[in-house]
Amino acid sequence: MAYSYQAPVSQALFDRASVVTPGGVNSPVRAFRAVGGTPRFMVSGSGPYLTDADGREYVDLVCSWGPMILGHAHPEVLAAVQEAVARGTSFGTPGEGEVALAEEIVARVEPVEQVRLVSSGTEATMSAIRLARGFTGRAKVVKFAGCYHGHVDALLAAAGSGVATFALPDTPGVTGAQAGDTIVLPYNDLEAVREAFAAHPGEIACVITEASPGNMGVVPPLDGFNAGLKEICAANGALYISDEVMTGFRTSKAGWFGIDGVRPDLMTFGKVMGGGFPAAAFGGRADVMAHLAPAGPVYQAGTLSGNPIATAAGLAQLRLLDDAAYTTVNAASAEIRGLVSEALSKEGVAHTVQAASNMFSVFFTDRPVRTYEDAKQQEAFRFTAFFHSLLSQGVYLPPSAFESWFVSTAHDTQAVERIAAALPAAARAASEATA
Ligand code: PLP
Repeated sequence: MAYSYQAPVSQALFDRASVVTPGGVNSPVRAFRAVGGTPRFMVSGSGPYLTDADGREYVDLVCSWGPMILGHAHPEVLAAVQEAVARGTSFGTPGEGEVALAEEIVARVEPVEQVRLVSSGTEATMSAIRLARGFTGRAKVVKFAGCYHGHVDALLAAAGSGVATFALPDTPGVTGAQAGDTIVLPYNDLEAVREAFAAHPGEIACVITEASPGNMGVVPPLDGFNAGLKEICAANGALYISDEVMTGFRTSKAGWFGIDGVRPDLMTFGKVMGGGFPAAAFGGRADVMAHLAPAGPVYQAGTLSGNPIATAAGLAQLRLLDDAAYTTVNAASAEIRGLVSEALSKEGVAHTVQAASNMFSVFFTDRPVRTYEDAKQQEAFRFTAFFHSLLSQGVYLPPSAFESWFVSTAHDTQAVERIAAALPAAARAASEATA
């Protein structure tokens, strides 16, 4: 595909980066490999906008892959960070900020009786799995195709998202022993879960699922799916782990739990709870969490866990996320979804917009997407054309057809109008695209 617009400063930075960093990026999907072209090096963000190194402004529909639910550089989050940073950046001791953030999480998400802070979503899921194995004395883990739980060795099988984008179903470096206790099942298929438990009696430590998946595009659980998982786990002495790294504090005040009310044994969080800093967490039943060191025998630790700047940013962000904030971000999401669908329909482009609260994605297929296999049936080449048209008009989408789009409370009328103005040409490009 020929790109009619240039980003020379980003290109020069990417060239420099490619010398010293594999593929020029520190997280694969940032590299634009799925869509081609030059990844944009961003220099600043303000509200719903990002500005790249070439001085071009974009309406941001990635929001740092979810965390920036109040928009970029929110003044109250910045003030909390500045206040914290002036007192020092890391002490390696307990601090009040960690307690306050843990209290906020426990107060919002009823099944979380105790919580442990970590620095990334990957660490949270890795630790939750270890704890589930330590608690149950069992080895096997059930996960679903298309669900991504970070780059935990045991969970990098059929992991959606970046892995989907690069078609690396089994990444080199993960040994048979590390993945051998992982059972991968089709999403939204309770019968497959029942069969797995029947085939491995007394062996399955836990079922881990994205509370509402966003890493194969947005594919919400069918009615009763999460409740069914909980029931099957409880009947078989396994733990039900709900990964809310993406949905937590984004889809509602209490995340996806606040929407479906199914009580997990353990939950994982990240993204929004860090306010744009590396903070994540796992938590749940007190009797399970009691097995964690130093209270119990299951080891888990982190030099920067509960970092004072990260906890200050996360706490400031969570405290601003009241009912009114969710009403605002949900309304912005609904409006943008409607505009995208209208533009694509006008050009006769087959598509399905799927949403989980304010998270959404656009699949280039007219069939509902219920599984990872369904997601892979879409005409991803249309997404590529759509993406580049929007990028050239100053709208920044996730550079992959297998991702959720994210909006914020800062996506106001002006930002939405900019998107609306760019959509007709993008829809035309999608309709004219060829595989
Ligand atoms: N779990 C889910 C559902 C995620 O979406 C992600 C990241 O996108 C992770 C875990 C891993 O989080 P992190 O990238 O912070 O390691």
